[in-house]
Amino acid sequence: MSTVIYPSPIFGPIHSRRLGISLGINLMPSDGKVCTFNCIYCECGFNEDFRPKHRRPTREEVAAGLEAKLKEMHTQGVHPDVLTFAGNGEPTGHPDFAGIIDDTVSLRDKYCPDAKVSVLSNSTFIDRPAVHDALMKVDNNILKLDTVDAEYISNVDRPTSPAYDVRKIIEGIRSFNGHAIIQTMFMKGTFVRRSGDGTPTTIDVSNVDEKYVKPWLDAVKYIAPQEVMVYTIDRETPDHDLRKASHEELDTIRDRVIALGIPCTASY
Ligand code: SF4
Repeated sequence: MSTVIYPSPIFGPIHSRRLGISLGINLMPSDGKVCTFNCIYCECGFNEDFRPKHRRPTREEVAAGLEAKLKEMHTQGVHPDVLTFAGNGEPTGHPDFAGIIDDTVSLRDKYCPDAKVSVLSNSTFIDRPAVHDALMKVDNNILKLDTVDAEYISNVDRPTSPAYDVRKIIEGIRSFNGHAIIQTMFMKGTFVRRSGDGTPTTIDVSNVDEKYVKPWLDAVKYIAPQEVMVYTIDRETPDHDLRKASHEELDTIRDRVIALGIPCTASY
């Protein structure tokens, strides 16, 4: 298994398909993964295979690490296009997420005022007022919504809380009043799900069919985000039976979003 556990709290810069020269900010421990989802396509692997022993970086450690890296990049004449909160799990779960966003915006204004601040989130904490308010301060509030089908979510995104309710998530994304970018993974293939006694069941995890695309499009229209990003598997995944959605499938979905009057990009 060739999955990626990122350094913490700062990694990169790396060239992102969607974001340009991106300096990564990882609010999770450096030796494992902490996420409220356990996606079968996660490039960091399955939660149960990468339980961390270390703690998360503190707010102070994040600010110090980011400032040191921005100074170093400035000296080298390298200018980030974006400061991206991503890494080994869900960034908005950090208890000081709101303060870290304030620090990051200040450091961005000081060292690289043209750079955007982006947060890649699975949307599970957007009902927390402090998280919501912090996300309103970032340039790119990128929120995952892979489908609106509850069974598909439980098979593919696999929320760790039984209280997860996609209808509430849709309302939560809508409450940003357009200050949100929906990010959706489209893929094909199969996944072997095991019941409590270990009995395997092979399930189809394609979400490119109309059964999934039409209700998702209806939700996108209802939310009215500033933009939608559709993408597919790019790196190695912990489940090796997953397949990429085709260019044609992604382009068709992208064009249907654009037909709703919402900008949309497709990454292959
Ligand atoms: S939400 Fe992101 S970090 Fe969490 S399991 Fe899914 S892909 Fe991995």
